[in-house]
This record gives sequence, C-alpha cells and structure tokens, in this order.
Amino acid sequence: MMRLIVWIAVAILVIWAVRSKVRAMMAPYREGFAPGAAPNRNQGRPQDARRVPDNAERMSCCAACGVYFPSSEAVRVDGRDYCSPAHAHQTSLHKAG
Ligand SMILES: [Zn+2]
Repeated sequence: MMRLIVWIAVAILVIWAVRSKVRAMMAPYREGFAPGAAPNRNQGRPQDARRVPDNAERMSCCAACGVYFPSSEAVRVDGRDYCSPAHAHQTSLHKAG
C-alpha cells in the first residue's frame, strides 16, 4: 500500500513538472501574438529572458485571406492591412460592386 502512495506522489510530481515546463515555454507566444490583450504578468518582476524581444517584427493579419505576415510588407487600404496588392484590390472590388 505504501508503494502505491509513493508511485502516485511521483506521478503527480512528474505531471506538475511537465505542465509548468510547457507553460513556461508557451508564455512568450501568448504574449507575442496578443499585445495589450492580456494583462502584463511581468509587472514588478525582472525582465523575463524568454519574452519576445522588442526588436521582433510585428505581424499583421490580412483582411482578405487571414494570413499573418510582417507588418512592414503590409498593403494598407482604408486602415486595413492586406498581404498583397491583389488582395487589397480584390476586397475593394467587392465593396464597389
Ligand atoms: Zn491576403
């Protein structure tokens, strides 16, 4: 019976360790893709080395096809970002006719 309790305790410890490791690995992605959406959990803490660096390029979502691409390559029409002139043109055609 004692053995069973020890094995259960070991299993719980392993699951907890894996979960905290996965959470730590996923944290920069959650913060990187939703800037401003989630409250800053790093307040009062020293800068986390795993955070997305400030010089990382911002990503935009194409209003026509939903693809993500670097903001510097965005084609901006009516305040919306498009991945290519073709998609910007295609959407403005839909609006016109
Ligand atoms: Zn597109």
